[in-house]
Amino acid sequence: MRYRRLGRTALKVSVVGFGASPLGGVFGQSDADEGMRAVGLAIDEGINFFDVSPYYGLTLAEERLGQALMGKRDRVVLATKCGRYGLDQFDFSAKRVRSSVEESLRRLGTDHVDLLQAHDVEFGDVEQIVAETIPAMRRLQEEGKTRYIGISGYPLKVLMRIARQIPVDSILSYCRYNLLINDMDTVLTPFAEGLGIGLINAAPLHMGMLTETGAPDWHPAPPQLRLAVKEVLAFCREQKIDLAELGLRFCFDYPRVASTLVGMSTTDQVRRNLDAFSTPASAELVSRVRAILGAATNVVWPSGKPENHD
Ligand code: NAD
Repeated sequence: MRYRRLGRTALKVSVVGFGASPLGGVFGQSDADEGMRAVGLAIDEGINFFDVSPYYGLTLAEERLGQALMGKRDRVVLATKCGRYGLDQFDFSAKRVRSSVEESLRRLGTDHVDLLQAHDVEFGDVEQIVAETIPAMRRLQEEGKTRYIGISGYPLKVLMRIARQIPVDSILSYCRYNLLINDMDTVLTPFAEGLGIGLINAAPLHMGMLTETGAPDWHPAPPQLRLAVKEVLAFCREQKIDLAELGLRFCFDYPRVASTLVGMSTTDQVRRNLDAFSTPASAELVSRVRAILGAATNVVWPSGKPENHD
């Protein structure tokens, strides 16, 4: 495994990060014992960065990750979130931030996390996030409940609007840099580099779209993108290539982020994803996939409050 420093923090995170949302059944039921084994194997193989949220499986992912980390907490960089608690349940108030962290720490079986992120900030009021949420997170940092703080979300501009107004240590962006899209690289990455903010790229498989199983029912991708990805899948089958492997290689090769978070819940996925890490993506295959995608490259969907859309 290789490790990179997250922005200006003292955290050294593995280039392959473990996204724990599937432990909470976000992509269909997952087996608790197998999930524990997946976490254990990942740690033994050098993956040290774990990301979760109270929202994933409505606290189930945190519960399960906490159990899997018993006795192993000091070997990992642990990130969780606050502010999102259901599909339409958000609370970015200072009071809820504090109670949320206390609850997360109990579920995770630890007295502090390494990174606390405001979850899906585009669903909040930017003014409140800047004036109330982030200051509350900084107070928790001063109290030792978290070592660093960050923000996460889908639209890029709102992430930048917030980070311009108040310092954050990291930004987690998802579905904006992978085989299907690259605007993180052109828009968010130069911005974050300029301010020394650590970057985390999440959902390298476009939340399951770049796999044989395909996107879950709740996936927000528009039909035009789904159709184009079907063509890409057909091409990969014909070439006897695993699309997920190609997609992961492509993201793991990206040097401008500290870590790429891939959602995993089985030992088989951990093994396959570590294999993908050890070989770079074929530039020729990537350009053939891009050619098939054509106008479906860089397709985005609306997320959050209208005023926070890109
Ligand atoms: P992803 O793109 O990582 O895809 C996950 C899906 O791919 C799961 O169904 C998983 O079982 C499957 N998968 C994993 N490896 C595979 C392989 N080798 N072959 C076939 N299928 C494979 O999407 P994600 O899980 O949503 O994103 C990764 C992590 O990033 C999340 O778990 C979460 O921690 C974080 N994230 C955060 C936010 C946010 O803060 N707003 C949003 C999205 C993701």
